[in-house]
This record gives sequence, structure tokens and C-alpha cells, in this order.
Amino acid sequence: MENISNIVDKLRSGEVVRCLKCNEGKYITNPKYLKTSHCYWCDKCDDTIHITPADVIVE
Ligand SMILES: [Zn+2]
Repeated sequence: MENISNIVDKLRSGEVVRCLKCNEGKYITNPKYLKTSHCYWCDKCDDTIHITPADVIVE
């Protein structure tokens, strides 16, 4: 499994990241907040990644 902070870096740079849970969907967020969003979710299974300034939590 990839390091979560690497995944977040990719998401913020606009790269497509496959869902860690279902491996079919990709993580999306509100396009307005692509660079600063603290929440990304899978477009298939709704798996979410929450980011706080201190750490990253996968739920
Ligand atoms: Zn998924």
C-alpha cells in the first residue's frame, strides 16, 4: 500500500489515485478546493480520506 501522504500529494497535484478499498473508483473532492481540501472520497464506494494539519486518517 502506498504511503497516505504520497497519495495526498498526488491528489493535490491533480493525479488520479485509485481507491485503496475497492480499487475501482478514484478519489475525488470538490474541484474548488482541490489544492486545499481536507477530504477526498471514492466515486464508487464512498471510502473517504480525511486530512488534518497534523496527520492523515483513513476511515
Ligand atoms: Zn472505492
